[in-house]
Amino acid sequence: MMNAVDREPRFGFEEHQVFWNEQGAVVCACCHIPYPGSDTWQMERWEEITPEVMASIAREGGSVKCEGCGTVPKRVIHG
Ligand SMILES: [Zn+2]
Repeated sequence: MMNAVDREPRFGFEEHQVFWNEQGAVVCACCHIPYPGSDTWQMERWEEITPEVMASIAREGGSVKCEGCGTVPKRVIHG
């Protein structure tokens, strides 16, 4: 069974950080994120979804959710 309580951000990231890549995969810092700067990271063009980007997605009626654990980022700027 999966232990959902064990949420440990990787590579010195913080738990609230969420990332996506060129293919539109969304993954939080606790899930299967490639090592920053690695070949995979660069090849798949991983980037952090900044609060500004999240806010604009929300404004357009969209949402961002981690594909690994279903986490929805909390830090959305309202207004
Ligand atoms: Zn996750």
